[in-house]
Amino acid sequence: MTMRFRFAPSPTGQLHVGNARTALFNWLAARNAGGAFVVRIEDTDAERSSSESEAGILDDLRWLGLAWQEGPGVDGAHGPYRQSERLEIYREHAQELLGRGAAYHCFCSADQLESDRRAAVAAGRPASYPGTCRALPAEDVRRRLEAGERAALRFAVPEVGQVEFEDLVRGTVRFSGDVIGDPVIVRSDGRPAYNFAVVVDDALMQISHVVRGEDHISNTPRQLLLYEALGFTPPTFAHLALVMGPDHAPLSKRHGVTSVAEYRARGYLPEALANYLALLGWSPGGDDEILPIEELARRFRIADVGRSASVFDPEKLAWVNRHYMKALPHDRLLELATPSFAAAGFATGPDGAGSAFLGEIASLAVDAVDRVEQIPGRLRFLFEFDVAQALADPEIRREVEGVDAMRVIGALATELAARPRIDGDGFRELKTAMRTATGCKGRALFHPIRVALTGRSDGMELDRAVPAIDKGAELPSGSGVRPILGCRERAAAFAKALGIE
Ligand code: GLU
Repeated sequence: MTMRFRFAPSPTGQLHVGNARTALFNWLAARNAGGAFVVRIEDTDAERSSSESEAGILDDLRWLGLAWQEGPGVDGAHGPYRQSERLEIYREHAQELLGRGAAYHCFCSADQLESDRRAAVAAGRPASYPGTCRALPAEDVRRRLEAGERAALRFAVPEVGQVEFEDLVRGTVRFSGDVIGDPVIVRSDGRPAYNFAVVVDDALMQISHVVRGEDHISNTPRQLLLYEALGFTPPTFAHLALVMGPDHAPLSKRHGVTSVAEYRARGYLPEALANYLALLGWSPGGDDEILPIEELARRFRIADVGRSASVFDPEKLAWVNRHYMKALPHDRLLELATPSFAAAGFATGPDGAGSAFLGEIASLAVDAVDRVEQIPGRLRFLFEFDVAQALADPEIRREVEGVDAMRVIGALATELAARPRIDGDGFRELKTAMRTATGCKGRALFHPIRVALTGRSDGMELDRAVPAIDKGAELPSGSGVRPILGCRERAAAFAKALGIE
């Protein structure tokens, strides 16, 4: 039998990284088994659900590379895949339970339920529904319904000592039967309740494995009893320990960035985020944790997922992301970095030459950043050279006003005035000429060169930075890249500002 997994998001906000991990584990398990990954939208809560949220979640799943074989936009044999389009199906199944006496009408008002709950808590009893309407005479029920009174439907939970199931992650799980109050299955406004809709859907969609967050484990006994009442075979369950923040509380907004959309907007790569999420509670074994998603799928087994909660570590995510960034093909790096260059004001609609240059400089900076959007920041020296601003920094001023530094900068201006634009070879020749001209070497030589050409006292290696400056200076106007001042002009401006003739 084909193994069928599903991810069932409620479209009430952005895709949380913890839920993305749930989706990923389902996807990996389905892929591993050559089975199906189904996406179902649980949108029966009309007030909290929105189509924007649904679109965002689906887009984030696609972005992460988690394609589904059945679900919104991909028709299959078990649709529709939105609960709001399945109301008739729930109604029929609820009627069936009602007809068999396995469900009953409940007329209790919200106020009544609340005061029952308080009384139970005060008396130290379980706060579950006390069964007030379970034994209403059929005649009374008919009369009240005919009089237009609104009723919810509740599942008449059978007398059971305990409910037990084998969880693929948690092993044998037992719940005592007497804490399971009769759950609402259809609300008085006709909307199905989660516990009911999820059972009907998972059964009709022939889901073989329900892999979801541990926050749903206490729903599972009710769901199992509903499977039985409806005559369905239950799926195998696996409940994943939650993803925690550094303080070991469930990861939430107060820990900072928690949604896939936010990581995406910050320039994380989908393959990096997916790889990192796979490591939350599972290990691919072997030495290497950085593996392509297909290889993760080849190794993935739900039964190997750990039982303990995992802590979301943004540092480790950044590390994984750096790894993938360094390996990016040139074209993809350019494509990803272009919006960041635009946002920094360094390029608008670059042409072929402009794009080629941006691609080159992006690859110079990629080693030193955590995320693509930080690339332009490393390249600021190209676009924002300003002698006055550099000299306004007291430390830089003190450094360049030393006798040797002044000599180096003077010689640099002279050398550059006499040379063509500097490329890699040109920079090697320049260094040799500068050593001879000044007698300086090492930091005494290179630090003043760095300051004079980049306006900064730190940054990437000069072997990379200097040729990039002059390459940028050669770009024709109209390339869409903000004009870059060349090395010759920079050195001359610096010498002038320091009063070196
Ligand atoms: N719609 C539920 C949620 O987003 C999923 C329930 C389930 O997986 O059974 O939490």
